[in-house]
Amino acid sequence: MLVLVVNAGSSSLKSQLIETDGKLTVMKCIAEKVGTDQAFMNVSFAPEFQKTRYNVAGKTVEQCLAKLLEVMVEDIESPISNLNQIDAVGNRIVAGGEYFTRSVVIDAQARENLAKCEELAPLHNPPADACIDMLREMLPETPQVAVFDTAFHATMPPKAYMYPLPMEYYEKYHIRRYGAHGTSHRYAAQQAANLLGRPLRDLGLITCHLGNGGSITAVNHGKSIDTTMGFTPLEGLMMGTRSGSIDPAIITYIMRREGKSFDEMDAILNRESGILGVSGKSGDMRDALAAAAGGDERAKLAIEMYVYRVQKAIGSYYAAMTRTDAVVMTAGIGENSAELRELIFDGLAHMGMILDKERNQVEGAIGMNRIISIDDSPIKICVVTADEEIRIARETDNLVSQL
Ligand code: ADP
Repeated sequence: MLVLVVNAGSSSLKSQLIETDGKLTVMKCIAEKVGTDQAFMNVSFAPEFQKTRYNVAGKTVEQCLAKLLEVMVEDIESPISNLNQIDAVGNRIVAGGEYFTRSVVIDAQARENLAKCEELAPLHNPPADACIDMLREMLPETPQVAVFDTAFHATMPPKAYMYPLPMEYYEKYHIRRYGAHGTSHRYAAQQAANLLGRPLRDLGLITCHLGNGGSITAVNHGKSIDTTMGFTPLEGLMMGTRSGSIDPAIITYIMRREGKSFDEMDAILNRESGILGVSGKSGDMRDALAAAAGGDERAKLAIEMYVYRVQKAIGSYYAAMTRTDAVVMTAGIGENSAELRELIFDGLAHMGMILDKERNQVEGAIGMNRIISIDDSPIKICVVTADEEIRIARETDNLVSQL
């Protein structure tokens, strides 16, 4: 099945055309700085993936997508010459609220509920919805699927998803933990079960999605029972530019002392904190590691804090589950950084998570999942690699095949 994956952000569009039978990506597109004068879009096709850059200044996210469709029909390297050759569209949706507990084929009812979720992720959901509407108009016969970052976490019990706030805020505004990266945690858990050669329903897994954003999930018998991201992706781990969990009183303190507005405070917590805020240099882990190796004390501190917070989250989910069979590492840092994995698991051996340092060093390609703990480690450590677009394409294929 040829699936067009659409991942619309607040100022970005990532899209891939994926042949799901062979898990082959045949087109990649990234548009960045959308909505500004510097907006550009890079499109490339298999097998060479030579990028062509398009100026998309002034366009909205859905207009960039329209431009991409035009390119896909016209470019001689494109594997399609007609949009009807696209069998299905898989849309990544950040927030599904309490309306969506699994991926869905988008019909009129689903579209209505999608509109109700927009206020939960006001930067991300509206452009994704706009892309869905545009595609419904251009490709009325092509089924579209919505894949939610939150859906996998719908199985969390109230004791995990409720906040100890006055109940009226849950009732009025649905303020509760929703989590994120759900597709990634679900995929990581399933792949780890395959690696361990046991059914997912028999396992207790702690899945760690460590990328620019980061979250850890307790997956008990195949179900998410708790996750570190909360009402928004700001809660939980220290991240590239997000603070993660801090004493909430700090927020009002800084606002009062510095006269910051709500929007300014939002930007400080989401875009100026985390690795970037502490190191003062970059929110990118590779930069932080390089700076630390060069003796930069603030970069060293940022990495120590990052590692410590990951360790504490793993420890707390060990306590939350009825059993722990494996810890699973995925996403940019989790998949690629042997150095970070070593730092994290150096502190966790006493819990029975014992890294094999040589196996840890082996680099994997996308799709090369592996176990990196010693053979008799009571709790296994796995690395699972995948990109998000492939995961969305698989989910879309699964649902559309059942139509
Ligand atoms: P996103 O959340 O934007 O999808 P990714 O999952 O691609 O992000 O993760 C990006 C992060 O992974 C960055 O901090 C990057 O520095 C880090 N990363 C990627 N490769 C490595 C590596 N080899 N060593 C350390 N960090 C890495």
